[in-house]
Amino acid sequence: MEIGILGGGIAGLSVALALRKQGYNPRVYERRTEPATMGAGVTLWPNASFVLEELGLLQDIAAIGGRPLTMRRKDAMGNALGGLDIALLDRTMGYPTYTVLRRHLQEVLLDHAARAGIPVEFGHRAVAVELDANGRAVAYFENGASIRPDLLIGADGRMGSVARKFVAGDNTPVYQGFVNWIGVAQGQHALVDDIAIQDFWGAGERFGCVPIRPELVYWAAAQARPFSEVTPTADLRKEVEKLFAQWPEPILAIVRATPENAIRRIAVHDLEPLHTWSRANVLLVGDAAHAPLPTSGQGACQALEDAWHLARCLDGASGGLDDVFQAFAKIRASKTARLAEQGRVFARGLFATDPETCRIRNERARASNPMHDVQVLAAGWGQGLPMPGCTDGMPAQGGGFGSLYRIE
Ligand SMILES: Cc1cc2nc3c(=O)[nH]c(=O)nc-3n(C[C@H](O)[C@H](O)[C@H](O)COP(=O)(O)OP(=O)(O)OC[C@H]3O[C@@H](n4cnc5c(N)ncnc54)[C@H](O)[C@@H]3O)c2cc1C
Repeated sequence: MEIGILGGGIAGLSVALALRKQGYNPRVYERRTEPATMGAGVTLWPNASFVLEELGLLQDIAAIGGRPLTMRRKDAMGNALGGLDIALLDRTMGYPTYTVLRRHLQEVLLDHAARAGIPVEFGHRAVAVELDANGRAVAYFENGASIRPDLLIGADGRMGSVARKFVAGDNTPVYQGFVNWIGVAQGQHALVDDIAIQDFWGAGERFGCVPIRPELVYWAAAQARPFSEVTPTADLRKEVEKLFAQWPEPILAIVRATPENAIRRIAVHDLEPLHTWSRANVLLVGDAAHAPLPTSGQGACQALEDAWHLARCLDGASGGLDDVFQAFAKIRASKTARLAEQGRVFARGLFATDPETCRIRNERARASNPMHDVQVLAAGWGQGLPMPGCTDGMPAQGGGFGSLYRIE
């Protein structure tokens, strides 16, 4: 069976690796002319590590990643608001959490793709997917090439997925009322004392510091902002410095240790759940199918889960592609929809500006029970995966960060 994958990001490459392991010969088509070097980092929670281990990548991730054992929350004055015992979460789920730079994760994926003999065709920007006279999808590229594989996988991301347009029609991403600045700080010396995730909550603002090593930290700053006010800014670093000038260290030290050209600002969008992820012989995966907000902490993790499940669905299929697509959606739709909803719930709390709402949110965070929080996250994130310590079944409220700190 010929398999073409549109998009060589986390979803596209991990799906390619999972399918190659099952004996298929996928080919990946990526719009960029060379591997991406931008983007900050991602936290790969234990459910992602399970998939990475299954794909044979976890050792390489361990070599390049940080191993956070705790997440500390603080308010904008530096007062403690509790945290997450990541070491306990890892023990409960049976796999470690890693923090990685996006470009390093991408390098590991590409390296394994090369070793597995998976062709990755750079400089192939898909511009349209259409049906031919036999009802089979054809993908057309900007460079004039076209492909007509037996199975076409749309892994072309969140914002302008050509495959999603073909499958679902007009499903446009939804702006969720906040902007993110992301960056990677590289210090001469340690920028943080230990490998702990630090999450600072204000009123309508947030700053997260995620170390990989003490001198290498990626970060994401965020602010609630109407879309009409997301206007171009000449100096992104100055904008962040100004916004967080009165916040506790290590925030300013980290921002100042970030080269101006390593900072990006993103108007953050997510997707409404789609009514279907497939049409004809095309299937959507990753952000093209179910992009959650970064506040879910799970976008990349869910892209990796797609890869693991899709390989199993294809392998176990006795019928045609329709059966595979149905089985895949049955396993994946409810978990991804609930995590996306939890990302929204958490964002509403995080970016609240009303002082009383923020006070209640902070009180709840301070009073949270670390053992209970770990159990909720483990049940939610482990759902559908054969991981030790995970009871299969999503808690009623979804089992993501949003279910821990909801304020509605
Ligand atoms: C600020 C921020 C922080 C985040 N932090 C985390 C985190 O800590 N943990 C986590 O799990 N997730 C996190 N995420 C989410 C995560 O980054 C995404 O969910 C993940 O990258 C999805 O992978 P993907 O391959 O589906 O999409 P992408 O990574 O966007 O990859 C899509 C690929 O398709 C290519 N492409 C696009 N259009 C075309 C086209 N027309 N033709 C060919 N190729 C095309 C792109 O160039 C790209 O290479 C974060 C997201 C943001 C914005």
